[in-house]
Amino acid sequence: MNQTTGITVGGQRADARIALTSPDVDARSLYVHVPFCFHKCHYCDFYSFVDSRDRQAEFVQALEVELKAMSPAAGRLQTIFVGGGTPSLLRPELWRRLLQTLGDRFDLSQLAEFTVECNPETVTRELAEVLREGGVTRASVGAQSFDARHLKTLERWHDPANVERSLEFLRDAGIARRSVDLIFGIPGQTLAEWEADLDTALGLLDGEGIEHVSAYALTYEQGTAMTKKLELGRLDAIDEDTEVGMQLLTWSKLAERGFGRYEVSNFARAGAECLHNLAYWRQEQWLAAGPSASGHARGFRWKNVPRLTDWMESVRTSDGWSSVVDLETPNAPRALAERIMTGLRLREGLDLNALQEQAGTFGAGDPLRREIDRFVQSGDLEIAADARLRLAERGWLFADGIAAALMGSLSPRP
Ligand code: SF4
Repeated sequence: MNQTTGITVGGQRADARIALTSPDVDARSLYVHVPFCFHKCHYCDFYSFVDSRDRQAEFVQALEVELKAMSPAAGRLQTIFVGGGTPSLLRPELWRRLLQTLGDRFDLSQLAEFTVECNPETVTRELAEVLREGGVTRASVGAQSFDARHLKTLERWHDPANVERSLEFLRDAGIARRSVDLIFGIPGQTLAEWEADLDTALGLLDGEGIEHVSAYALTYEQGTAMTKKLELGRLDAIDEDTEVGMQLLTWSKLAERGFGRYEVSNFARAGAECLHNLAYWRQEQWLAAGPSASGHARGFRWKNVPRLTDWMESVRTSDGWSSVVDLETPNAPRALAERIMTGLRLREGLDLNALQEQAGTFGAGDPLRREIDRFVQSGDLEIAADARLRLAERGWLFADGIAAALMGSLSPRP
């Protein structure tokens, strides 16, 4: 397979139009991927790179063409999320163009949330103003840690002091909804050091009136520099007990300050949940623009070609339609497995009746039902009075394992 020419489906070259040119697409969410970073963090497996050739203008031009092509598939957008990469690295004049295009091409009259991911090092007063003027309502700032030593282990290049500065710039510009991203379980990090990071973050959250926190355990993704170092024995992953301790500490400290856990790694004060990410976890439809961006519509899943040059070339030669990789065509068992996998991570859980309808057979002898009952008996899952299936308190630590067991019971189904 050649990424430049996309994949073939039924002998046809496939691009994103395979999922989006149908009258029944009514996607309410849009993800835009900006691939540029000023340094590659060692734990990162997102498609992002340091662009020594400065192709920001070329990139935005191609993005405009792609957005124009896909815009008929959008309903009245409710959420937009610009992620990366480092979207805050895009120059303000290019942001102006991009925001203008979004306003011109899409119906934003019901837009409830427009998030931009920001690196603390690259947020300026000017950028914050441009974002707010262009309709951005929410910023997600990647703090990760406030300890310079741990940032160094992650090869994350920013000065911890700039987290507060960037949050102030965003607040002063009028972007009221702000979120902070944190990472724990960094090699060499102790429980006390993570607590210190959490305390610093909580001080900022209170001081700045911030209502949302994402706290992820460090994962070692295939092909990253950190994973290579781990394999070479140049660093040691923290032990499981410490990681569990960090997780429990995170939950209790955030709960004390009024942050409810609405997803395994995401916490918000009431009403401040990230609507865009909820659309993903609820398996709704969303459009995707930019290299490596993933979309979901009409049961199709796809990912735009990841290399910037391939993506720009495919957009240029196909009337704005990016070639795709990892295309998955509609498939009922896969859709059911995905609903379980993402729905169980949410505090709201899954509607058991809807799950039953989607699963078809669901009687007492059904393998999925048996597996659900097993976890209910063990106290990991609970079925609420409103017939929602969700993690019980002790199940939160094992969310992925429980979801995997339920998904495993789906196959083979009659
Ligand atoms: S800033 Fe974000 S996207 Fe860029 S390399 Fe670091 S983790 Fe990856």
